Amino acid sequence: MHRIALVNQKGGVGKTTTAVNLSACLAALGRRVLLIDLDPQANTSISFGVRADERQRTSYNLLRGDCTAAESLVTVRPNLDLIPANIDLAGAEVELAGTIGREFALRDSLRALTNYDYAIIDCPPSLGLLNVNALSFVTEVYIPLQCEYFALHGVSMLFKTVGVVKSRVNPALDIQGVIPCMYDARTGLSREVVTEIEKHFPGRVFKTRIRTNVRLAEAPSHGKSIIEYAPDSNGAQDYRALALEVMARHGERAPEEIGETPEEAAASSGAVASPAVAPPLHQPHPVVPTGTPAPAPEAAAAAAVSVSPAACGTVTATTATGGTPAAAESSSAQGDDWQVASLIPNPSRPESAHEA
Ligand code: ATP
Ligand code: MG
Repeated sequence: MHRIALVNQKGGVGKTTTAVNLSACLAALGRRVLLIDLDPQANTSISFGVRADERQRTSYNLLRGDCTAAESLVTVRPNLDLIPANIDLAGAEVELAGTIGREFALRDSLRALTNYDYAIIDCPPSLGLLNVNALSFVTEVYIPLQCEYFALHGVSMLFKTVGVVKSRVNPALDIQGVIPCMYDARTGLSREVVTEIEKHFPGRVFKTRIRTNVRLAEAPSHGKSIIEYAPDSNGAQDYRALALEVMARHGERAPEEIGETPEEAAASSGAVASPAVAPPLHQPHPVVPTGTPAPAPEAAAAAAVSVSPAACGTVTATTATGGTPAAAESSSAQGDDWQVASLIPNPSRPESAHEA
């Protein structure tokens, strides 16, 4: 199973849009996908029409050990199971802070789920305990970057967090891909930002650019992925291309390239029927397969991400859209071996000012 986390502590850059539509496209291409909503905003869940109420088992219950992974699954589409989130997850960081092995809660709870080709995690815009849990479980980090002037703000903090988790907890972890999102080929700025990103992440930037497309913004309000809502749109084309690129990176070929239907591809991938799942919250929709300026100085990232030393590891990321802020309060648990706070780089350190 390929384990991928979509991470960027900057808000509004395309993490959720990518998690939802990449998962939907991989599933439509015959891959068996487990999608995990690890953001209290629950945008991924809502995008599939799942509004987890108090009766639904969510990623919050999973992290707390209240239920098994199989009990939290919702089958949202053929080949695509979701572990939904709701606002309860906002309290998980504080509740888990004092527990032993808190950074492994997700990894341990997902151990029994092996029947998938891909596990994809939508992370919140922070670098707190939820993100650390995601990074402890996955081996691949994909960073969606919005093609705008501030694209690389805060990326050094993200690098350091990944580096610390890799060295202390999960040696298999690596930043494997950067996904240019909200790309507008008509503007020189988008092209310049991508050139800049390619300089910083040589060989890791996906060839696929996710173009700005209003259909992508509309689809969630209909509870649909882009390949269901607007299968002929640029957004559907781009996410399908991204899914094919992800598969190619893992040595997998599109079903039609090898003369298979997606169903045959799923069967030949070795995937077996999913474990017992909670009843779907709604009827699944039918799946329709579809055929610069220099980066801003890191010092300015403090405007987007503030770390309060007094709060001992509290990182708050503010969304680029100025909307939903997500707070990751990883409080200090005195007496533990090491603190989540120690995973979080301090942007006031001199070296943080250089990397962009
Ligand atoms: P957060 O950090 O708050 O979770 P995010 O990184 O998950 O945000 P998204 O929710 O995916 O970002 O996207 C932010 C907004 O931009 C959403 O309204 C989404 O519909 C819109 N959006 C994302 N990608 C595109 C695109 N390629 N074209 C047009 N709109 C887009
Ligand atoms: Mg999101």
